[in-house]
Amino acid sequence: MSWLELITRISTNNYLEVERILKSHPYVRDAAKRLRERKMAVIENLDDYVKATMESVSRIGGHAYLAKDKQEAREIVSKILGDKKLVVMSKTNAAYEVNLREFLISQGKEVWETDLGEFLVQITNGWPSHIIVPAVDMNRERAAKAIKAIDPGISENASIEELVAAVRRFLMSKYINADAGITGANAVAADTGAVILVENEGNIRMVTVKPQVHIALAGIDKIVPTLADAFDEAMVQAAYAGLYPPTYVNLTAGPSSTADIEHTRVSPATGPKEFHLVLIDDGRLEASKDPVLKEALLCIRCGRCYFSCPTYRLLGKDWISTKSPYNGPMGVMWNYITNDDPWPSFYCTHSGGCREVCPMGINIPDIISYIKGKGTKQV
Ligand code: SF4
Repeated sequence: MSWLELITRISTNNYLEVERILKSHPYVRDAAKRLRERKMAVIENLDDYVKATMESVSRIGGHAYLAKDKQEAREIVSKILGDKKLVVMSKTNAAYEVNLREFLISQGKEVWETDLGEFLVQITNGWPSHIIVPAVDMNRERAAKAIKAIDPGISENASIEELVAAVRRFLMSKYINADAGITGANAVAADTGAVILVENEGNIRMVTVKPQVHIALAGIDKIVPTLADAFDEAMVQAAYAGLYPPTYVNLTAGPSSTADIEHTRVSPATGPKEFHLVLIDDGRLEASKDPVLKEALLCIRCGRCYFSCPTYRLLGKDWISTKSPYNGPMGVMWNYITNDDPWPSFYCTHSGGCREVCPMGINIPDIISYIKGKGTKQV
């Protein structure tokens, strides 16, 4: 099946599935409207919310850091890890943005992606095609060839179930022995310091609970005022990604703890001994002060705008650099914010479909026009 046939089929499925979800669960649209307002309140006072979030994380026994750029984020994580060797990661755009996996491997660590799509991207030395479905361009045959490299018993005619089982077997031994787990965050609640993660595979549960150190990386745009808002973001993101209800919603608020003896809360209990939250600026604070760009920070990474975009359907992952996890219409905005790269904007045809489907109502075409203007001035 060609890329065009594949993406057309997936886009149609996504469109129909999201419409079905919204019809069956109309409260999701209300939550999306509410979330837009709550996130905008944070964007307009981002410095204050960053400070409040860091204080909340300290209050719950965690450690919070603010990295001004990619290098600082890598250095902070490297320092936390020290001589720890085996690291398991769940799909995290923030880690990809700062090129964390390659950096840690270059430092002699053994690092494994545990999201199935991201795992396929890692073992084929590729880069993500889509923010929600990183290996969307890989069919069963290509996946079988890739998985054979880690499980020689796998036939190239293996079924999808057999392929998933092979990766499950391989990763299980990594979870059990991992020294540290690294995740992203769908949302970070400023009032409690809690991190919310949405998933279906169960890998995030393993990454956040089995290793004794959990490090969460999050762009500061992921901060929302309260834990209730964070749950809203989880719900809205899953619904507009066409995966509702999500199989799991994980909440982490500090290291593991118990209050079972004399109702005195002590830490650690069974789960991780340490919880670290690394907040990443990398251009976001500056964007929050720009009257046009600040709207891009509302993005909840549902990936829906990709499917409505004729340029993405044509170019796929080749649209935007191999170093970026962000592609499609949202990728144009995010590459400008985090890489100061305006060039992908010039491929935009301004069909306007992205704005129609965005749950946050982001005026993506206007922001892309603005970025084009900035790019033109750079010539
Ligand atoms: S820009 Fe909108 S549609 Fe695209 S990923 Fe972000 S929230 Fe989803």
